[in-house]
Amino acid sequence: MTGIRTTCPYCGVGCGVVVNLQEGAVRVRGDERHPANYGRLCVKGAALGETTGLKGRLLRPMLGDSEASWEQALDHAGERLREIIAAHGPRAVAFYASGQLLTEDYYAANKLMKGFIGAANIDTNSRLCMSSAVTGYKRAFGEDIVPCSYEDVEKSDLVVLAGSNAAWTHPVLFQRLARAREANPAMRVVVIDPRHTATCDIADLHLPLRPGSDAGLFVGLLRIIQGQGAGAAAWAAEYCGLAQDDVATFYDWFLSAPRAITLYTMGINQSTSGSDKCNAIINVHLASGKINRPGCGPFSLTGQPNAMGGREVGGLANQLAAHMNFEPDDLSRVARFWGTERLAQTPGLMAVELFDAIARGEVKAIWIMGTNPAVSLPDSHKVSQALAVCPLVIVSEVVRETDTSRFAHVRFPALAWGEKEGTVTNSERRISRQRAFLPAPGEAKPDWWIIAQMAARLGYGEAFSWQHPHDIFNEHAALTAFENDGMRAFNLQPLTGLAREQWEAFEPWQWPAGDLPVRRIIPVEPREHGAQTNALYPLLLNSGRIRDQWHTMTRTGAVPGLMRHLPQPYVDVSPVDAARFYLTEGELARISSPRGVMVARVRLNEGQRPGELFVPMHWNKQFAREGGVNALVEGRCDPLSGQPESKQTAVRILPW
Ligand code: SF4
Repeated sequence: MTGIRTTCPYCGVGCGVVVNLQEGAVRVRGDERHPANYGRLCVKGAALGETTGLKGRLLRPMLGDSEASWEQALDHAGERLREIIAAHGPRAVAFYASGQLLTEDYYAANKLMKGFIGAANIDTNSRLCMSSAVTGYKRAFGEDIVPCSYEDVEKSDLVVLAGSNAAWTHPVLFQRLARAREANPAMRVVVIDPRHTATCDIADLHLPLRPGSDAGLFVGLLRIIQGQGAGAAAWAAEYCGLAQDDVATFYDWFLSAPRAITLYTMGINQSTSGSDKCNAIINVHLASGKINRPGCGPFSLTGQPNAMGGREVGGLANQLAAHMNFEPDDLSRVARFWGTERLAQTPGLMAVELFDAIARGEVKAIWIMGTNPAVSLPDSHKVSQALAVCPLVIVSEVVRETDTSRFAHVRFPALAWGEKEGTVTNSERRISRQRAFLPAPGEAKPDWWIIAQMAARLGYGEAFSWQHPHDIFNEHAALTAFENDGMRAFNLQPLTGLAREQWEAFEPWQWPAGDLPVRRIIPVEPREHGAQTNALYPLLLNSGRIRDQWHTMTRTGAVPGLMRHLPQPYVDVSPVDAARFYLTEGELARISSPRGVMVARVRLNEGQRPGELFVPMHWNKQFAREGGVNALVEGRCDPLSGQPESKQTAVRILPW
């Protein structure tokens, strides 16, 4: 096989791609040898070659609206950070990172913030994606371990998709499931989702449950498994707004299937009780023994290409490093490994509370890396207002103009996909290389280099003296293995001390989940979502992804072929609600919540439950002048995981 082998930078399936440069064009095809996709790609992955142009790129450091040299920009940002830390302490500084960062970049950011600046205020857009899943796994297993692989999906007898439109959001894994089902007519597929989505095309049973009631469905199943099942199906059916026969069928199938696997994503995680919902799912697998063996388990799918790598290095404000916690032994171990006396001792601010703290003036410097929170965080107008009053906003970006970078005092040009080198970890714990096949454009630099340069200006250069991402990977692997006598499953011991040539030639490698350290059933009491519908805001708004776009469209929005699928912001409305609110297919409608307003084109959709709307999350202000769906979403969070409830918002809709 000729070409550069790397990985797709979009979803958490983590497909391998092979890149060839032909007459200046970037040709991309699936990597037949990569165990995530065996050569397959979805439309986003197949269009990657069209996203590598330099139009709209940030190619030089900027101070305000003026170009600057790297020395000037780094010196200025370093001096301002030092002033703020000296005057207000390390907690006045925060980093907001991204599941788009490579593991080496994430490691560097986490080490600088927690290890040397000395506060744990580093959080990430992965908080919006799967932090409830992390909490669920940690409570059940004592460690953040995903005990499933893609092969388990193919080997199962019953595949349950809960709060997941995998056909659009994890397309290649969905293709693997569809083929496995074709090859095995005995396999059954159950989709649990208020909406009738493309994923239902292969479902034997669709359970269009009441939004937010998922925990009740799994609590009812647990009662039956534990022998307390009298009336459980009837109770769950009523709680979830489902037909009793359908619930009973699901329970029968789960109990009788020799192997069952549950895939879950944002529909479960993005909730004020997301952690409990995750544990309700894990509970039924633990209680039935359908876990830790082929074809079985609770399988949280990550949204982003390296959300898992971020979890591994500790790039969340409530994790320390290498799957260690803020506990005395772990704190001592990490401090000794990093050679620091400044290690943060307590968790930091999580995404939504972090931007609230900026708005209150408590956090006075924020460094945003590879993400666009002015669009992607809930209550996005409030986020913009917070950034507007923040004394120091630093943005490391690929794109010159984003909704977030207009608030930046300092902009650092970062390398993009195809230009940078490092590793990522996908949903099934498989570490793969991302490789460069294009030269660094303009003065853009790797994120790890920018972080190391800043560390030097803050006086910590010695601990950040890496010459290459390979050095960082080795340090990261060594930390996972440091004083790891089997107490922590996450242990990259086999990868420690890789020579540069070995790292360059690195083949995709899945770290073993091993035996689960503990197996705890966490009592779960189903709770209602926090959205308050009333006469003024009578509808529930759900948000999510579409097939051909990625995040806030800064990359996929530039590809005409991808834009053709669904070119404008739209709102899915049931015909019942269309009649009720005088809405017409194809006409514009104005959707309002107590937080904001957006305009979208009406699509009548029979698969939408009456009383509920669906709006995709992608459109940034370039495409939607009034703001995207996050202008409407409130910042309510799960108190355990800090994950916002992006799936339920009380709104009203009117013709525009
Ligand atoms: Fe990329 Fe995900 Fe599509 Fe694979 S399924 S090609 S990782 S977007």
